[in-house]
Order: sequence, then structure tokens, then C-alpha cells
Amino acid sequence: MREADTTSSFYIGRVFGIPLGVNYSWFIIFALVTVSLASQFPMLWTPEIRWTAALVTSLLFFCSVLGHELAHSVVALSFGIPVKGITLFVFGGVSQIAREATKPRAEALIAVVGPLMSLALAGLFYGIQALAGPREETLAVMTGWLAAINLNLAVFNLIPGFPLDGGRVLRALLWWVRGDYRAATRIAVIVGRGVAWTFILVGALSALGTPVIAELTGLRIGFLGGLWIAFIGWFLDSAATSTHNQMAFRESLAGYTARDVMTRDLPMISRYTSLQRVVDENLLLQDQRFLLIGSNGILDGIVTLRNIRAVPKERWSITIAGDAMTPLHRMKYVSPQAEALSVLESMDEADVNQMPVVDRDIVVGMVSRDRLLHIIRLRTELK
Ligand SMILES: [Zn+2]
Repeated sequence: MREADTTSSFYIGRVFGIPLGVNYSWFIIFALVTVSLASQFPMLWTPEIRWTAALVTSLLFFCSVLGHELAHSVVALSFGIPVKGITLFVFGGVSQIAREATKPRAEALIAVVGPLMSLALAGLFYGIQALAGPREETLAVMTGWLAAINLNLAVFNLIPGFPLDGGRVLRALLWWVRGDYRAATRIAVIVGRGVAWTFILVGALSALGTPVIAELTGLRIGFLGGLWIAFIGWFLDSAATSTHNQMAFRESLAGYTARDVMTRDLPMISRYTSLQRVVDENLLLQDQRFLLIGSNGILDGIVTLRNIRAVPKERWSITIAGDAMTPLHRMKYVSPQAEALSVLESMDEADVNQMPVVDRDIVVGMVSRDRLLHIIRLRTELK
């Protein structure tokens, strides 16, 4: 799975250079899985063995989800697409891949390796279970459960509805066959919403105790199970809708270049101006988020709100802008011919809110995120 609200999470480390985070909501699932495993493992086991096995199995489940996400991220990296991190949260994991793939083949491969990894893990755990046999009962029960859950993860993620991996594969196939990215996204979103509403309907009917679902499928889902399925459906629907909105949002930048959207007016201040003056006279009074530092029309760097926040407030009056700024050679820049949408993507990748536009080594303008968002809003309203 990809793209979700991943705020309120904390950092646990890096794998292949990719930062890993855990959202607080994930602990709820971790606790639920551990408790439910401890209660379903054989009652003949001592409580210590049951709880230890439940905890270890739960942790291995956590590693399996991570393995699924790492597969997406590593393949994205191999296509040159930056990965900001992986976050585990209540519905599993999300890879924060900086931008969408530009070719259907890359999109399909990035999407399909997640479920393939889950399938491979299922095979691995089934293998260990078979080797363990009845003599190593604890190991066999644990790996049996892990094999089944990984198989479920693979199958669930292959459901062809956006934003699930299967939905991405479907979109990539449509994109490849029809050559139209937008039409492919639209269809994958519609299928995704259909899947989401099926989940909501099945979940609600089961929670209400209607016998229809049990008669049709032979499954007895129960009240809590039904609520959970409906909840997953609701989550899938909101993710599919937000994908659609994001696409419409991006479409409204189509046709613009950096030259069209940049600010040409580049008032510069001297590098010897104190940060206190920068804040009092420029940022606050003129409602700006960054200031250019330089002299005689030559840009040395920029001071952003982030640069200022990095300096303790009591040092603002004795720190000069030149020492706090991001120097020009450390800044990413774009050419005047760059498409506005790719400028926005470059800003996302570099995690900055503004970017200089450079033409033959001369800074000719600045593009800011605020300005791009303003254009998008205006165009959406005019439509
Ligand atoms: Zn996935």
C-alpha cells in the first residue's frame, strides 16, 4: 500500500538507507494480534510459552509487513524514484515513494513485488512448518500462522482496486494498453471505490447479523469482524477518492513551465543583515516565507523559515543571514523550460518549499510552493 497520513509516527532506524517509522496506531494492532494469538494457541502450552510465542509471532508478522513494503521501496529506488521512508500503521505499512512512476512497466513492477514478497514469505514459513513437523509443535504452530497471514496479505493486496497494489497493477496494464495515464487512473479509482463499497456493504450486513453473507459465502463473520471489514472499506474508499483528487489537482498545472509560474522580482538583502532584522522587517511585515541573500544582483543563497528555526531565538540578533542561509551551491534548481508539475515533484523530492530558476548560471526567478498552490486553486475554481 502507498500514500496515507503518516504523521504522529516515530523513527526506528534505517534499512537500505530507507528510514523506518512506526505510527502510534500500529501499537493497537500489535497488541490485538499478540492477545488474539495468545488466546488461540494450544491451551496445553504453559502461559509463558503461549505469551512468548504470541509476542515473537507478532514481531515476525511486523517484519513480514516491513518486508512487503521494503520490496516496493527497493524496486522504486532501482527505477531512480526516491523513497522518503516506510511507516507502519493500523492497516499495515505504507511506502512513501516520492513520486509516481513515469512508465507503466515501472509502476507495475513496483506494485507487484510487494504481494510477491508476501507470497515468498508465505512459502518460506510453510517450508519451516513442514520441516518442524509435529515434534517441534511450537515452531510449527507459529510458522503455520505466519504462512497463512502472509498468504492473506498477498491475496488482499492483489485485489484490483486502487489504492491496493492490485489496483496499481491494473492501472499500469490499462495505461500500457491504452497509453493514457489519466483514463487508466480514473478506471482504477472507479474499480477501487467499487471494491471499497463491497467491503462496507459486506461488513455492515455481517455486523447487523443479516444471514445473506453467511448464505452466499459460507463465512460467519460476526459483529466485530463485520465492523472491521466495513472500516477497511471506508479507509479504501477515502484513499481512492484522495488519489482522484490529487490527480485533478496535478492536472491543473499541465501546460505551465517554470518560467510561467516564477517570481521575477528578486529583492535581495545583504548577507550581513541580522536574523532578527530578517524576521522583523522582512518575513513578518511582508508575509514572506523566504528571502534571497546576495549583492549586486548576484545570489549567494536563501534564508527560509526552516533556516531561521534552526537558530535559537536568543541568537537571532547576533547571527547574520549569511551564516544561517542555505548557500546556492547546496540548493536544487530548475531550468525555465521545466514543466511546473515536475518543479512541484522536485520540491517534494528535495523537501523544500521554493526553488530557484537558473538559466545559464544566472538566477532568473524563484518558484514557490505557495505560488503553485495558488495557481492550482485558481484554475480549479475557474473550471
Ligand atoms: Zn503493497
